[in-house]
Amino acid sequence: MNMITNHMPTAELQALDAAHHMHPFTSGTELAAKGARVITRASGVTLTDSEGNEMLDAMAGLWCVNLGYGRDELAEAAARQMKELPYYNTFFQTTHVPAIALSSKLAELTPHDLNNVFFAGSGSEANDTNIRLVRTYWAEKGQPEKKIIISRKNAYHGSSVGSASLGGMQPMHAHGGLPIEDIHHIDEPNWYAQGGDMSPAEFGLERARQLEAAIEEYGAHRVAAFIGEPIQGAGGVIIPPETYWPEIQRICDKHNILLIADEVITGFGRTGKWFGCETLGIRPHIMTIAKGLSSGYAPIGGSLLCDEVAQVMNDCDFAHGYTYSGHPVACAVALENLRILQEEKIVDRAGSEVAPYLKEKWDTLNDHPLVGETALCGLMGSLALSPDPSSRAMFAADKGTAGLICREHCFANGLVMRHVGDRMVISPPLVITHAEIDTLVERARKALDLTHAELKDKGLMVAA
Ligand SMILES: *Cc1c(COP(=O)(O)O)cnc(C)c1O
Repeated sequence: MNMITNHMPTAELQALDAAHHMHPFTSGTELAAKGARVITRASGVTLTDSEGNEMLDAMAGLWCVNLGYGRDELAEAAARQMKELPYYNTFFQTTHVPAIALSSKLAELTPHDLNNVFFAGSGSEANDTNIRLVRTYWAEKGQPEKKIIISRKNAYHGSSVGSASLGGMQPMHAHGGLPIEDIHHIDEPNWYAQGGDMSPAEFGLERARQLEAAIEEYGAHRVAAFIGEPIQGAGGVIIPPETYWPEIQRICDKHNILLIADEVITGFGRTGKWFGCETLGIRPHIMTIAKGLSSGYAPIGGSLLCDEVAQVMNDCDFAHGYTYSGHPVACAVALENLRILQEEKIVDRAGSEVAPYLKEKWDTLNDHPLVGETALCGLMGSLALSPDPSSRAMFAADKGTAGLICREHCFANGLVMRHVGDRMVISPPLVITHAEIDTLVERARKALDLTHAELKDKGLMVAA
């Protein structure tokens, strides 16, 4: 076979892709008919495809390229590490400098006493670690029956058997017979879609108290942990009412339940502070990290443990680990990413300058006749499409029909914005400039106009 390169005609690349490459969360048959878009390069917040089209990536890849594309320092850090020590494991009483340096750096950056990290290759793997870890923790403390983990419907915690069981996505549970045993899901704090006549504050308390009801139903002696994303990401950037997390924290503390904050998206500046826990006032025992840890330049994740949990785990011989736990190249890339985020004050500026400007502009979309609400926390945001914005109405058409139309108009007009059902979501690189934010919002408005026109044409501006 000839060398396959960026210089091949797009149609040939698409045909080979369709013939051999299976895409996540995608019908291969549908995609083959259409042809995948071939992304060839990227710089800053801008992607380029094989036809030379440029797109503003308002999703930072998959919520991960916090630093933006094209930072040579990260490539150089990887090359340096590959030449010096491309791989060694940390299983058999050995260690290496990148793992030592990154774990020390994480202990410094994370809040409270989350001073101990167990590395993984991804967020899914880290959450699998968490399942085994919290159950082992309680068993070590003489309570082996304390193993139920409570999560939320429409949560996303990854795609492996364990992490997708923690997640609350029905279509994922349908594939492969999930969830595994002893994982239970309460309702999500999605006031816009489910709050009815309640005020957001009342609704936040009602949803949090479902955790207490579940604990009382099963018995606190059987419940090991609660897991939640500080702000649901893949579920549609659902920002919980202010009353929600303090009540969850109170309930976990009162019933002696470990609190796991899945910060895979909210970590590393996404909410305008280093961690979502700081923005939302949460004090977790365990924190899941991945994505922004390396800005997506290398695959790496981990579980950060507070001192007390780490002490118990350190006293036992936890039979768990991945070949690539603490991979030296991934650690070196993550370290360089954190160095730049910190030294160039990118996280500080995200909170103090970028987020307020983005909020001002994002909220201008609220007047659009298709927009039921705009929501934003730091640099993660969403807007709800609605056939009747004043009543928060849903569409009569299948969920996601309007969202998909809108996404297609975004793509065709130089903007990568994702849809979750009929919510559009954004999570741009933290380095996005004010001028790029202006472009983002202009293109979003144009896509909304085109979507509105198309929905009217097709007779789809009808409330359920
Ligand atoms: C993406 C994500 C994961 C899974 O991470 P992978 O690296 O894809 O395995 C877990 N939790 C949250 C909140 C995520 O957004």
